[in-house]
Amino acid sequence: MTINGEQKILQKISTLNQLYLKMLEFTLEETTEIDVEISKLDNNYFVENPSFFSEYKRLFSNDSLHKLKNELNNLGDIIDSHQTNLCNNHEWIDDTIDIDCEKSMCITYCTKCETSKKHN
Ligand SMILES: [Zn+2]
Repeated sequence: MTINGEQKILQKISTLNQLYLKMLEFTLEETTEIDVEISKLDNNYFVENPSFFSEYKRLFSNDSLHKLKNELNNLGDIIDSHQTNLCNNHEWIDDTIDIDCEKSMCITYCTKCETSKKHN
């Protein structure tokens, strides 16, 4: 079975999404571990060096990492359903649509999935 251009691009987006999710999960584990290690320190190094540390806390906050993880999971589900339902072999048909009572426009679209074709 041949794979069309849309499927190749969807596959790339899906792979990127999965890699991003793996990296996020790793980041969540590491940031949790860092918090534990800081709590075990016998000094206030991270309390007394707040400029870089507060920037780190802002960029790697648990809330924003979890929020991003949920958004990527949702995107993954949507991509999965598109991959399952993607038209494999378009059947193009030409059609004329009326723009107003005087103008009409020719479009080409797939009868199976309704994707329209670019007119160059
Ligand atoms: Zn199609």
